[in-house]
Amino acid sequence: MGIAKGKRALIVGVANDKSLAWQIAQELHSQGAEIALTYQGEALEKRVRPLAAQIEADVVGELDVTNDSQIEAVFANLKQKWGGLDMLAHAVAFAEREDLRDRFLNVSRVNFSRSLEISAYSLVALARAAEPLMEVRGGGSVVALSYIGAVRAVPNYNVMGVAKAALEACVRYLAIDLGPKNIRVNAISAGPARTLSSSAISGFHTMVHEVEQRSPLRRGMKTEEAGKMAAAILSDLASGVTGQTIYADVGYSIVGF
Ligand code: NAD
Repeated sequence: MGIAKGKRALIVGVANDKSLAWQIAQELHSQGAEIALTYQGEALEKRVRPLAAQIEADVVGELDVTNDSQIEAVFANLKQKWGGLDMLAHAVAFAEREDLRDRFLNVSRVNFSRSLEISAYSLVALARAAEPLMEVRGGGSVVALSYIGAVRAVPNYNVMGVAKAALEACVRYLAIDLGPKNIRVNAISAGPARTLSSSAISGFHTMVHEVEQRSPLRRGMKTEEAGKMAAAILSDLASGVTGQTIYADVGYSIVGF
């Protein structure tokens, strides 16, 4: 028994065992869901396949979110395998390392566009591909991962903060479009966690330290806590919640000073 029993979930964004997407996949599996994973490029496939085996997940294809034919192929595979889809987790983000330090002002046009395409537009593309598969199941739930840098200017987060602001806005507009089909769309704004992506942010340890010192719970967020929150919001327990950004950040976002 579990809150995701009988559900079928696609998780996009597992790079390794530190990935927040991996936490979501493990939690959903332990809550009874069947899981499908993708990987970005051959190098990551070697990491993703052994993880998939641990939770009896299927690897349904290579998926670079800038590649429309890969998106099409992954959802065609899912249609063949399951016929429908209940849950989609989007845990994908990218910014050039050079843009995660110093002045936001210096971001180039091309890097800005690429960050927003991969980190925000990809949610729209994946939700559009998921819509018909969720419709046949009578509805579904989509979750994306955000960060407080969407609404506050966090030093060095820079263009990723702009991309997360766009991502959170995409969540709201997608919720409006997909709500009539009983498809919910939400974001989890997670506290800082040490992962492959976050290691690119200059001074990341300061972000973690700040949360440990000043959050109401006086500790950092555990990565499994982001996974649990995402699983909860994806499940029918959250059937009345859509278009929201929900903070799973040990309370840091409510602190004034
Ligand atoms: P991660 O490096 O484990 O995951 C990032 C994933 O994005 C990787 O699997 C990578 O393959 C994928 N990705 C990047 N470009 C892609 C592309 N073009 N096509 C397909 N996939 C691509 O790091 P993570 O911290 O687990 O990040 C997952 C999500 O959580 C991201 O959206 C990130 O912004 C968000 N987040 C992370 C933190 C944190 O502190 N780690 C906090 C809040 C939100």
